[in-house]
Amino acid sequence: MTKKIQTILGPVPIDSLGLLLPHEHLFTDLRGPIVPDYAQASPDDVASVVEPYLAEASSAGVTAMVECSTVGVGRNLAVLQCLAEITPIHIIAPTGVYKEAFTPASLRDTSVERLAELWTQELLSGIEGTTIRAGFIKLAVSDDGLTDLEIRNLKAAAKASAASEAVIASHTVGGEAAMLELDILENEGLDLERFIWVHAQAENDLSIQIEAARRGAYLEIDSIGGTWQSQTQLLENVLGVIEAGYIDNLLLSHDAGWYNPARLDGMPEEGFRSYTVLMTEFFPALREYGVTEEQISRITIDNPARAFAFNSFAYPGCSPS
Ligand SMILES: [Zn+2]
Repeated sequence: MTKKIQTILGPVPIDSLGLLLPHEHLFTDLRGPIVPDYAQASPDDVASVVEPYLAEASSAGVTAMVECSTVGVGRNLAVLQCLAEITPIHIIAPTGVYKEAFTPASLRDTSVERLAELWTQELLSGIEGTTIRAGFIKLAVSDDGLTDLEIRNLKAAAKASAASEAVIASHTVGGEAAMLELDILENEGLDLERFIWVHAQAENDLSIQIEAARRGAYLEIDSIGGTWQSQTQLLENVLGVIEAGYIDNLLLSHDAGWYNPARLDGMPEEGFRSYTVLMTEFFPALREYGVTEEQISRITIDNPARAFAFNSFAYPGCSPS
C-alpha cells in the first residue's frame, strides 16, 4: 500500500512528492481568538496577496507545504481551501490548538478524551462539518514551560495520533520543555517517531537535540531566512546533526509567510517573508560544506514525506490502494 499525505484537496501518494516544506504560514492571526474579528478575511483578498509567493515557491521546486497556523492563531478553512485550489502546491492543514494563551474558550474545559475525539474526527472525517481532513496535529507549549492545559493537549494528541497515525508537531522553545514533552508522549504510548520538535534550533546545546533524535523525534530547524536568526548558526546546527548520524531526523523550513488579517493590506508587521530562501541560499551554503545532493534530498523530500505520511486511510467512496 502506498503511503499518502493528507492534503486539503485529498490524499497524495508520497512517492509522487518532491520537496515538502514542513513549517510555513499562509494565514495567521496572532491576536488570538479574543478579538471580535479573529481570523476573518475574504479568501479572495488572501489569495491575491499570497498567490505570488506560492507561485515563486512552486517555481523554486516546492511541491507541498504544511500550514502550521493551528486553532487559536487563525486557522481558516475557507481561506486554505481557496489557496489550495489556486496553487499546484499541495497544502496540508492542521488540527490541534496553540499555546494556552491562544486557546479558544470552547476548548478550555474539554476533557482529554473529548479533545482526542474531536481531533481524530478532523483527521479521519473532516474539519468543521466539511470533508476536508487535517493532515497532522499542531500544538504549542508556552515558552516559559508547559501549563496543565498544554499537558492535556499532549495527552489528547497522543490518543488522536494512535487513532489516526497523524504526526504531532509542537512549537517548543528549549530542550527542557522538549524533553518533558517526549516523556509525557512516551508515557501515553506514542512512538516518538511520530513527533516533530518544532523550533529545535532554539536549543543551543546540540547534545540535547541529539538526545531527542536518538529517542526518535524529528528535529525541525525552521527559521531558514529569518532575520532574527543567525543563518550561520542554523548551518552549523544542521551540519552537527548530520555529523552525529541523525540526518534522517532533520526537517528544514522557513516559518515564513503570511497573510495577516489584522491589517487592511494583509501584510505581517515585518513584511511577507518568501518560501524560497532554503533553495536559493541555504542549499548552496550546505553544498559548500560538502553536503551532497543525495543528503539534501533525504532531508527535504524523504524525511518530511515519512513524517507526514499515513499508512492506511480510506476516503468515502474510494478504495484504499
Ligand atoms: Zn510557525
